[in-house]
Amino acid sequence: MPMSAEDLIEECRELVEDPEFSAVRDWLDHHPGAKVLGHFQVYFPEEIAHAAGMLPVKLAGAGSALQIRQADARIAAFVCSIVRSALEAALSGHLDFLSVFVTHPICDAARHACGVWARNFPELSAQILYLPQNAGSSHALDYLRAEYARVARVIEQATGAQVTDEALRASIAVFNENRRLLRELYALKREAPWLVSAVEAYVLTRAAGLMPRERHNELLRAVIPALRARDARPQDKLRVVFEGGFCEQPPLDMLAVIQEICYVVDDDLMIGLRWLTDDVPQDGEDPLRDLARAYLQTSSHSPVQRDPRRPKEERLLARIRDANAEAAIVAAAKMCEPGLEEQVAYGQALDDAGIPHLVMEFEEKTRVFEQTRMEVETFAESLLLDLV
Ligand code: SF4
Repeated sequence: MPMSAEDLIEECRELVEDPEFSAVRDWLDHHPGAKVLGHFQVYFPEEIAHAAGMLPVKLAGAGSALQIRQADARIAAFVCSIVRSALEAALSGHLDFLSVFVTHPICDAARHACGVWARNFPELSAQILYLPQNAGSSHALDYLRAEYARVARVIEQATGAQVTDEALRASIAVFNENRRLLRELYALKREAPWLVSAVEAYVLTRAAGLMPRERHNELLRAVIPALRARDARPQDKLRVVFEGGFCEQPPLDMLAVIQEICYVVDDDLMIGLRWLTDDVPQDGEDPLRDLARAYLQTSSHSPVQRDPRRPKEERLLARIRDANAEAAIVAAAKMCEPGLEEQVAYGQALDDAGIPHLVMEFEEKTRVFEQTRMEVETFAESLLLDLV
């Protein structure tokens, strides 16, 4: 009997809340000798790992599943929670399946994580993928293609397999399909948010980074029509865009509180999995170059990627407009310098455009949300009264 949308969503939720990464361990049981690459937020070209037969796994922190004990002896307590909880997960053996760890210089905390991981896990290949600081530079494409080729060599060393152009094209096809399905899921969120809640869309998306992508494609192909067929009616709720989930992730219970009060019609949660906004050519002569071009030309935005051609404030306004949202929630993780800085720029742009917004902070391990509920309720009620 086919699984219902609710069963599939529950499966994804269990994976998201599972500190043991059981789907990854299951994959390894079925692929003896295969290797796993863990990549830290925000974006990593997973196709390169997939083309060598690796399972790319998205490392997005342990939420409240782990208490941070050992990591505090190795990383300062004022660093954001995601960097510390990811390290805690590794130190406590939950990531013992990794062969390669890749982080990015998105901020000082993430950049220095590479050195900390390299020192604590000498058997692991700990790497930094240097994405271009300025995506608008005329040298960015050549530079990024070379950087992807360097990472491909690292992966070849770890696996003993070649990253061939043919394998890359096949992997691009798998990930193109995944991104298309995720776009479809998000289109449904924008069109009919009463059919898919913020938490449901979130766990369905995040599960992509926790299981083989082929399996995730199957899951989305089954769940999207089932969501469309749901018998649910629209309610009188404020339509908001949630911005601020590009790196550390807000707790599921916080999203649950927000969705009780508002329709979250778009967001940047786990944006790295949806970073490329269009298909990458599947039959190009140089697939690494095609991936690099896609990163530079058809991609989303976040506070940690600079692209002077496409200011982030304008991209946020476009996201709000395209989702037909009435307001925005501009959140940032505690201790996240890039996120907190961007709140100021976003707030200014939203003020100038006359778009109401609520500014919030969160931490992945928070468990009590009464304050959040009060703030969101007050914000939504004041706007709904104005709108009637
Ligand atoms: S949450 Fe912010 S400070 Fe922490 S790793 Fe991510 S971008 Fe860096």
